[in-house]
Amino acid sequence: MKELILEIEKYASEKNIPIIEKKTIAYIMKFINDNNIKNILEIGSAIGYSSILMASVNPNISITTIEKDEQRYMECIKNIKKAGYDKRINVVYQDALEMNLSNDIKYDLIFIDAAKGQYINFFEKFKYFLNDKGFIISDNLNFHGYVGRSTELEKGNLRSLVEKIESYKDFLEHNEEFDTRFIDVGDTISISERKKDE
Ligand code: SAH
Ligand code: MG
Repeated sequence: MKELILEIEKYASEKNIPIIEKKTIAYIMKFINDNNIKNILEIGSAIGYSSILMASVNPNISITTIEKDEQRYMECIKNIKKAGYDKRINVVYQDALEMNLSNDIKYDLIFIDAAKGQYINFFEKFKYFLNDKGFIISDNLNFHGYVGRSTELEKGNLRSLVEKIESYKDFLEHNEEFDTRFIDVGDTISISERKKDE
């Protein structure tokens, strides 16, 4: 297992695949354990790194993970088989925004780690599949230090992406349904949960 993880890290760095930072996934693994999370939906599998590590927390965890890139999907399937988790991790090859999910399944945790410009859309689509007491975690909210500084950037793709992450943070901070805290780990994550009646 440890060897497989190292192998995936090496592959990701050689092929420039943006897998989660070690500190961040360690934080999320502890969070999964502490909150007794069993059923996870991940948007953005890449090559299976984060889903394999989340599944490794304990044998009761099951994950559905969505990836729209064919090559990464194939690599993901391969890695999950190698990890021996193919019964617990279901990889879906599809654009998450086009996917029809079964209404019967509710998740304890939804982990959003796909196209940064689409975070509000992912959140709005998938919140209906969250358990009442579930959590939505999103990664890369600092976007390598650019978030909050978009006006210093030249107009272009990077700036418009950073602006979208800034809008997402704003959306979370002013959300009527969800409370969100931002955790300064790795590239910054958010943890959102439904507001409690007071
Ligand atoms: N969670 C992974 C890293 C994911 S990288 C890890 O930490 O190991 C983000 C991935 O999201 C990319 O592979 C990209 O192809 C995928 N992606 C982006 N937009 C998507 C969408 N709309 N639906 C499904 N996958 C998407
Ligand atoms: Mg990420």
